[in-house]
Amino acid sequence: MKTKEQRLNELYSKGLVNTIKGLFAGKNVNIDEDYYVLMADYIDSLDEVKDSMLLNPVEILNNLPNLVSNIQETNLNGIYGITDENGIRINKALDYESKKLYFFHELTHAVQTKHINDQEHCGFYNGHDGMFLTEGATQYTAEILYHVSNGTNINYREQPSTVRGDSTRTPYSPLSEYQYNGNILMLLCKTMDLPLPQVLALGYKQNGRETLKSIYESLDGNKGKFDELMQDLEQIYSIDKLIIGGLR
Ligand SMILES: [Zn+2]
Repeated sequence: MKTKEQRLNELYSKGLVNTIKGLFAGKNVNIDEDYYVLMADYIDSLDEVKDSMLLNPVEILNNLPNLVSNIQETNLNGIYGITDENGIRINKALDYESKKLYFFHELTHAVQTKHINDQEHCGFYNGHDGMFLTEGATQYTAEILYHVSNGTNINYREQPSTVRGDSTRTPYSPLSEYQYNGNILMLLCKTMDLPLPQVLALGYKQNGRETLKSIYESLDGNKGKFDELMQDLEQIYSIDKLIIGGLR
């Protein structure tokens, strides 16, 4: 595993931190040095996996200043991070490694946000449903990039008591949160015979959800079933969100 210092040296010596700061220069932003470094880390890690994800990290890099202007560390109680119209907030109580992992998660949300017909979409979320799948995909993306960055392997393990509202279920997952969402996403990948990185990459695309829908519905017996599946999963997501927010 690389130490934080080793990784920082790599990113600074590649000039990537300065490149990112240059892109934000002259913009009215509230971003600390640490987070320019973590954005550089994210882009550099994405570059390592670009062939399996079929993504263009340079395009994502150049778009960052349009999508991120405010990054704050704040008191979020039990929540790791939040991305909304106010920017990205990260729980200040987290240690550096957790901040990095959850910042990668929030930054993925930020770069996957798009506006279609005046409506905010994010990943597979279309303004109505799709957040269940988006959270699984976002966490997978964050964990893959985090391990690439640290030079470590993603670690699948039994994770009892991680499905809220169903203590009998034990996901086998490498994720630190959204384990159940991740499992359903994997199941979808297997059903569609698509490699996970390619499905994760769809989250970044303007037409990602529509592409996923057309592949899913091209399978025998699935015609017209994608939106129904998304709506069913969204009910689990909504209950999950209420529980995270404090409803017990
Ligand atoms: Zn999220």
